[in-house]
Amino acid sequence: MTTQRIRDFLATRRPDGPCLVVDLDVVRDNFHAFRHAMPDSAIYYAVKANPAPEVLRLLASLGSNFDCASVAEIEMALDAGATAARISYGNTIKKERDVARAHALGINLFAVDSHEEVEKISRAAPGARVFCRVLTDGEGAEWPLSRKFGCVPQMAVDVLVYAHQLGLESYGVSFHVGSQMTKVDAWDDALADAKRVFVSLAKQGIHLQMVNMGGGFPTKYLRDVPTAEAYGKAIFASLRAHFGNQIPHTIIEPGRGMVGNAGVIKAEVVLISKKSDNDAARWVFLDIGKFGGLAETMDEAIRYPIRTERDSDEMEPCVIAGPTCDSADVLYEKNLYPLPVSLTIGDEVLIEGTGAYTTTYSAVAFNGFDPLKAYII
Ligand SMILES: *Cc1c(COP(=O)(O)O)cnc(C)c1O
Repeated sequence: MTTQRIRDFLATRRPDGPCLVVDLDVVRDNFHAFRHAMPDSAIYYAVKANPAPEVLRLLASLGSNFDCASVAEIEMALDAGATAARISYGNTIKKERDVARAHALGINLFAVDSHEEVEKISRAAPGARVFCRVLTDGEGAEWPLSRKFGCVPQMAVDVLVYAHQLGLESYGVSFHVGSQMTKVDAWDDALADAKRVFVSLAKQGIHLQMVNMGGGFPTKYLRDVPTAEAYGKAIFASLRAHFGNQIPHTIIEPGRGMVGNAGVIKAEVVLISKKSDNDAARWVFLDIGKFGGLAETMDEAIRYPIRTERDSDEMEPCVIAGPTCDSADVLYEKNLYPLPVSLTIGDEVLIEGTGAYTTTYSAVAFNGFDPLKAYII
């Protein structure tokens, strides 16, 4: 949503070119909503969603922990004031020398999903805690994470036994139900799998302590999404159902749900045209597209709310495209996007819900366009 603070900022600063404005008050509210909805779970903010130093500093000061995917992200979290004990190296695909660098920085919590990765960690971070990621089906997620991360639960058992044999601390199980997960009960199957891994390992004398329930908490785009409260209730019910009165230590890793609705991109209409006189839909070209930060429009997966100053006028379905000379740079074409008939070249548009996965997806200078500027207010 476009908060009054964001409106005031844009009205007074009038930044030129496309830019993202993030309202830290919204991030703070989101953090408190997660804290309140899931009071027994530690919050590990997924840094990749928006690594702006101001965002990281705010979350560090509120007591957040951090899920990092690289040594660079670990360093950013440390610079923002987090201690190493509050950082997880959550990527299952790491170079051994990066594991060693993280270990030297004091990181003691690592994700794995294979025997090979366990071997790297046993050599480069001896004695560290590891958790094994299990696959989920991603059903119900608008930005699913596919089969790239995780292994089947039976293999997770073997991986964690192997970690134990190599002198690591087999600490828990993780999963990610898929990003922008709009079903509140999507965690249930994965928690059942996690419980089975706990039971199998306990039979071998290895007592896991932690379930990392990942991210997936949605942000509101065009459709309403359930509240953090609703997710908290459903997840707690599943934890109770599967773990009874022995609920392990739990972690959540919100990325999109922490920052998505805190950001708005201001953009400008560069051209409105048709491909032929009897073309039904107008083409609206903005000064931002897939390469300027809106990569999640890939396959039209994420459909951002777009506001103009003419939204009370009659609307007509349009194609929306970006400004670069790449034909992939079309945001919405299969599902046309309603925009005001009166929309004009030079008009400003606000693309809402863009606080997550935008600045870091923007190209450095494709076609000479600047990377997406961000103002954190
Ligand atoms: C990306 C990622 C997250 C954040 O996911 P969201 O859907 O944005 O909440 C959390 N955990 C891991 C391991 C991730 O890779």
